Amino acid sequence: MKLNLDPLLLQNLKQAKEILWLNPHLNEKESPLADVQGIADAEARLKRFASYFAAVFPETKATGGLIESPLTEAQNFISFLQKETDVPLKGRLFVKEDNALPISGSIKARGGIYEVLVLAEEIALKSGMLKLEDDYAVLAQEPFRELFAKYAVAVGSTGNLGLSIGIMSAQLGFRVTVHMSNDARQWKKDLLRAKGAQVVEYPGNFDMAISEGRKQAMKDPNCHFVDDENSLNLFYGYSVAARRTAEQLSQAGVRVDADHPLFIYLPCGVGGGPGGVAYGFKQLYGSNVHCFFVEPIYSPAMLLGLASGLHDGIAVQDIGLSGQTAMDGLAVGRPSKLIGRIVGHRLDGIYTLDDSRSYHYLKGIWQKEGIALEPSASASLPGYKIVQTDEEYKNRLTPVQWQNATHIAWATGGGMVPQEEMEAYRNYQPE
Ligand SMILES: *Cc1c(COP(=O)(O)O)cnc(C)c1O
Repeated sequence: MKLNLDPLLLQNLKQAKEILWLNPHLNEKESPLADVQGIADAEARLKRFASYFAAVFPETKATGGLIESPLTEAQNFISFLQKETDVPLKGRLFVKEDNALPISGSIKARGGIYEVLVLAEEIALKSGMLKLEDDYAVLAQEPFRELFAKYAVAVGSTGNLGLSIGIMSAQLGFRVTVHMSNDARQWKKDLLRAKGAQVVEYPGNFDMAISEGRKQAMKDPNCHFVDDENSLNLFYGYSVAARRTAEQLSQAGVRVDADHPLFIYLPCGVGGGPGGVAYGFKQLYGSNVHCFFVEPIYSPAMLLGLASGLHDGIAVQDIGLSGQTAMDGLAVGRPSKLIGRIVGHRLDGIYTLDDSRSYHYLKGIWQKEGIALEPSASASLPGYKIVQTDEEYKNRLTPVQWQNATHIAWATGGGMVPQEEMEAYRNYQPE
């Protein structure tokens, strides 16, 4: 394969170095592949379902039936990052605790659940049993569960997406199947089965689980297959996070404008989660918000897709990388077909991180702030330091702008991880 890539960048990627890639294509042009109306639609749909959530998931009562997470200032953690550099670090740092999202404890509780709601609403409206103006709490009642039981939902996922789709679909009454590779964690399979989902396991790698899952779903016209790599509904579900977080920022006294820039660090797998969130923020703040993705050194899929311009036309294995990482949610070799094309030109850059460093920050945020994250989520934590210490990037802003800046590390998950597993993460020792 002939690659249109800067030779030094290619060499650094192949050697699995930690790098900060600055996006040469950054601009504010719109993408025809997505429509901002999708954000407003998702926000409105989630509001319609709020009374249902408050009824069946009591943990959402505090937020009026919205699936939302706290935005927590992490001042003590700054000193942890400051120890790693002589450059004085400036600005406020927050952690967006999607690890604490209700129902499934990860960012997938945004997009994944939203996609199931789109399906449920469509079926319920079409049946004539529900009208848009109704109180959606009725969806918890038996006639609706019987209606949904005629339909099936399927997903191929070894991780948080499977949990979110499985839990939500089963709660509504859908027949739901989660296709997994048989090396998936036992606790995930157990939990899904306990909630009423069917778990099908496949030998070999995870691609097999997805393609088999897709094939089986195709055979059943009443089965909806959740396609992580190509779904706009997932994307819009994630995008709603931006407006909600903007409210939290203003409650925390944070301004965002040209003199008060905002930075967001988002762990990236196929790209739907971070892409949706970034899309929402760009819509609100334009060039005053700076979005960065983070990927593991052995699976910089989005970076490779964007830098080469090939998107899903290239996988990390094509340049000799394994794609393997302890950051479960980010172990993706090939990026989404859509996301790079929609938000690729809106990212300031992508940094890559070694697994052992992610564990290091996982431990640090627990010690300094008492926040329990999984390794994928912890990858967002050093962004605050990385952008301010990069020789090239640090000069893009004035000292006053750095002083006034606000940073958000998007802590994408950890809420479902069992206690023993969490302790093993914290006690991790690099070889
Ligand atoms: C899924 C996931 C991500 C990345 O989201 P994508 O949509 O795959 O890019 C990041 N962190 C965690 C914990 C996840 O589960």
